[in-house]
Amino acid sequence: MNVRRLIPTAAVAGAVALGLTTLSACSSSDAAEGGSDGKLDVVASFYPMQFLAEEIGGSHVSVTTLTKPGTEPHDLELSPRQTGGLSDADYILFLKGVQPAVDDAVEQAGVKNTVDAAKLTTLENHGSEVGHDHGHEEEGEEHGHEGEHGHEGEEEAGLDPHIWLDPVKYAEVAEGVGKSLEKADPDHAADYRKNTDALVTELNALDTAYETGLKNTSTKTFITTHSAFGYLAERYGLTQEGIAGIDPEAEPSPARIDEIHSVAEESKATTVFFETLASDKTAKTLAKDLGLKTGVLDPLEGITDKSAGADYIEVMKSNLIALQKALGAK
Ligand SMILES: [Zn+2]
Repeated sequence: MNVRRLIPTAAVAGAVALGLTTLSACSSSDAAEGGSDGKLDVVASFYPMQFLAEEIGGSHVSVTTLTKPGTEPHDLELSPRQTGGLSDADYILFLKGVQPAVDDAVEQAGVKNTVDAAKLTTLENHGSEVGHDHGHEEEGEEHGHEGEHGHEGEEEAGLDPHIWLDPVKYAEVAEGVGKSLEKADPDHAADYRKNTDALVTELNALDTAYETGLKNTSTKTFITTHSAFGYLAERYGLTQEGIAGIDPEAEPSPARIDEIHSVAEESKATTVFFETLASDKTAKTLAKDLGLKTGVLDPLEGITDKSAGADYIEVMKSNLIALQKALGAK
């Protein structure tokens, strides 16, 4: 537990970079101790986890996010200092399978209250669906980084981690996060319960808006560079056609481009979606070749001032409007 005292400079700098305040040598992983400000020091891996921690934790938590706003989260690498500082957290919320570097660091940190959001709902392998093979197979590989790290659990292999883009699954995760915070910090259990209920109510309303808003559309197919919307598509009866799988910067294969050409024609798709955190070059070229429009569909992996909204709920509402427009909602 006191290994970090042997490397004080790195550990302290790491803790500062993470915004962690508990530096005393006797700091235990006992969450109820909290940081020096009496708040629970929560580390969130990336934005969708940060939003849950902030909404549910409210004034009782101090949330730090490992992925800086505007950074593409899948390829995140943590510095040794960030990794070292992680063990000072009272509570860690991450989503296994999105960021291999974070998965490793969280395991090393050994913090008692560590919550894997993937375990709070059910993950699916969208790669096995007919017609989705190409993009999603690449997605699974990218997410798992199996080749590179070689230790990704078999059960996670190929599972799509983008659960937060389905309001129903995200609400399930919110419930689980609420319960785990109640356990980690029982003194404030009533507030965590109240905040969880409020957030779940908002997510239910969002689900209803999607359900209603996407019921009657001219087409059910949308084309997107980043195959992040598999759960959303499934929830609302849509078909996601991912151009290049999960890595938004990757160049799609010529074969996939050909496929997209036929898919676009058959499905009467109108729009090629891209996201704000990655280059839109592929989407623009493809849209031009196909005579389609481009639009932004935000996978909500980070929030910046370029995002179409200030938080998860607002961006999801913008995404709904973009989808309604592209699909020809009636
Ligand atoms: Zn993604």
